This record gives sequence, C-alpha cells and structure tokens, in this order.
Amino acid sequence: MSNQNFDLHHLWHPYTSLTRPLPCYEVDSAEGVYLQLKDGRRLVDGMSSWWACLHGYNVPELNAAATAQLGKMSHVMFGGLTHDPAIELCRALTKVLPSALDRFFLADSGSVSVEVALKMAIQYWHGRGTPKTRFASLSRGYHGDTFGAMSVCDPNGGMHSLYKGFLPEHIFVSRPESCFGEEFDQSDLQALEAVFEQHHHELAALILEPVVQGAGGMRFYHPNYLKGARELCERYDVLLIADEIATGFGRTGKLFACEWAGISPDIICIGKALTGGYMTMAATITTKHVAETICNGPAGVLMHGPTFMANPLACAVALASLKLLLESPWQQRIQSIEEQMRRELAPALELPSVADVRVLGGIGVVELHEPLNVAEVQKQLVELGVWIRPFGKLFYIMPPYVIQPDELSKLTSAMVAVCEGV
Ligand SMILES: *Cc1c(COP(=O)(O)O)cnc(C)c1O
Repeated sequence: MSNQNFDLHHLWHPYTSLTRPLPCYEVDSAEGVYLQLKDGRRLVDGMSSWWACLHGYNVPELNAAATAQLGKMSHVMFGGLTHDPAIELCRALTKVLPSALDRFFLADSGSVSVEVALKMAIQYWHGRGTPKTRFASLSRGYHGDTFGAMSVCDPNGGMHSLYKGFLPEHIFVSRPESCFGEEFDQSDLQALEAVFEQHHHELAALILEPVVQGAGGMRFYHPNYLKGARELCERYDVLLIADEIATGFGRTGKLFACEWAGISPDIICIGKALTGGYMTMAATITTKHVAETICNGPAGVLMHGPTFMANPLACAVALASLKLLLESPWQQRIQSIEEQMRRELAPALELPSVADVRVLGGIGVVELHEPLNVAEVQKQLVELGVWIRPFGKLFYIMPPYVIQPDELSKLTSAMVAVCEGV
C-alpha cells in the first residue's frame, strides 16, 4: 500500500470522512512561501497554514532558535520547574499585548487556551463570591473544537445539534451588521445590551473575536462595536474575553485587532501565529485583578495544567518569531499586501458567481453565491500553482507577510480564474 493510500484509509484529516475522504496532496518540504509537493510541483502558499506561518517556511532565525533549544532541552514539566524560554517569551509579550494583560497561562493549542479562558472567568466569579457560569457569544463566532470552546461557537454551524445533551447552552447575540470601514450603526449594540440587561446576573463573560470573525464567515465588523461591547461589559459587570487566536501578530494591520478599537479585554487568547507556525502553542493572558481574584477564591489556584505546558522548544521559537516580526517592516508589508489584494481581487466582484469581495490587512476574501466544490476547485488551484483551501462559499487567502508582489498576483489571479469558471 502506498503512503498516500494508507493515509486515505487510516488517517483522519480536519473535518473529513474516512469512508468518503477528500483527496490530499503529499508535501515533501516547504521554504519561503512555497510548498514543495512530492510529485515535483511547487505551490505558492495562500493560507499561511491557517493563519500561522507569518514568516513563511523553513525560516533560518526560527530554525536556529529551535536547534539551540533542542541542544539544551526540548521539554521539561512545568509543575515545580521553570525556564528562561517561558519567562523571556512572557516578558516580551507583556510589552506588545493590550495594556494590563500580564498574567500568563501557556496552553498547548488555541482551543485549550479558550477552555482556560472560560475557566478563568468562572473561577473569577467564584472569587468575587457571586458565582456566574454562563457565557455570551456572537452568532457566527468560532472559538475552537473542544467542548467548552465549541459551546460558545455559532450554534447553527452544525456542531451544536450533533452534541446536544452534552454541550452547555450559552446565550448568543446577533453579530454586528456594521462592516469595517463603513458607517457605524449604533443599533448594532442593542441586541448585546438587551442580553446583558436580562442575563448579566448569570453571565461570567462575553467572548468574541475582535473585528474579524474568522472560521464562522470571514467577516470584518466595525471597531465601534468592540468599543461599545467593552463599555457594556463594564456597565453590567461582565468580563470580556477577546479571542485573538487568528487576528494576533499583525494579521489585520494592527499587532492585535483590539487596537482598532483602542480597548483592552479582561482575558485574551492568542495562538496560531504565536510560534510563527512552527509548533503548537497558545496562551491565555489576563490582568492582575482577575488573576488575584481567581487565586483568592475558594479553589485558591487556577485548575488547569497540561503535560506539555510551556514547552521550552515552542517558547524559544515563539520568542524568536516575535523578535523577527517586530524587527521586520511588518506594517508596510501588510499594507502593501492589502493594497495589492484590493486592486487584484476587485475584478471578481463583476462576476455573476461572486457575492462580495472584502480585504482587511493581510486577509483577502471572495464570497460566492454558492458553495464551491472543494475537491474540484482544489485540483484546479494546484494546477495553477497555488495552495488555497476554500470552505463553503468562502474563498480566502492570508499569505505569509514575506510574500512578493508577483507571488501574490499568482494567488489573486488564480482566485479570479476559478470564480470565472463557476
Ligand atoms: C483556530 C482558532 C481557534 C482554535 O485554535 P486551535 O489551535 O485550532 O485549537 C480558536 N479561536 C479562533 C478565533 C481560531 O481562529
């Protein structure tokens, strides 16, 4: 049995069937913005491996950080032990995160960091002596695939009905309609205020993705909504959790999307690009006030502790990735990627198959009227020399920041060509 056949029959891929699998392409290596397939083809990467690979692949600085750390220790338990990679990473993050966020929990994936955020919020209210255990979340939100995270994802995305009876039921608020860059309609906040008015006594926190709703629809909403949500959380005494797992580290044109609204949440989740796409790690960060309230509560501790917490190898690479990002002209790079995507994706809007084209920072989205046939479109894209993974009606790219104009043109022209054919 060939490797590809073994994969087909034995390995699950994200959200796929083992009996009716979608085709997969075998990658041999990756370098810069290119994925090298085993069959010899070389693809320009438009996905940054799901928001993660900011600097592209096989980055000398990150390789060096990993190699140096490997020679010292790849992992030690974090219970009762600590190490420079974790300490230095958190020190460096303190300088760039929205203000007052400087109490860290290093988790092993984005979903786990969301679980930890939910736990923090619940334990915070225990500490206040007024337990609250429900969450408010926006429709079309996405926060991960573990149960707690799933329970605050959009309820109509399919997963809620599947796990009904096991998932806790939270409160969903209609997502904001005012788009980024357009006029803000103050009535957008009415639904949130109505929910707070009715439920604030049981709401531990509001969780949302600031400015960009990712996997739930790739929509960019008005920063005034975020600002208003921050004020309502204050007024009704509800914590605000910002899920910046997708938006963190410059993707929207700000280092963190919260900066568009000039707000700081009570708890923030970061992940994906944290290690420059090298390995899995995420973090949940909160304020001194929330941390102290949790730890003065009845449990006295935060009840979470993964085996691979603060993995030194991941911390060392994350620190090198942050340094590399901050030393690079990342704002300029994002700005020119944004301008080029606006220019080159605009023609798609004229096509009958296309419902909308939108661009923010390093994210370019073409929304179609009908869902794309992923297997078919993927094949076409690979033949055009690009790696883009559409889902449903959404055709989108978020390339590595180091992409060159001719490489980006290859991505945008492939998108337009595919839209012309459907
Ligand atoms: C990807 C993502 C997650 C989940 O992160 P994983 O590392 O896949 O568990 C959570 N929230 C948002 C906004 C994400 O984009």
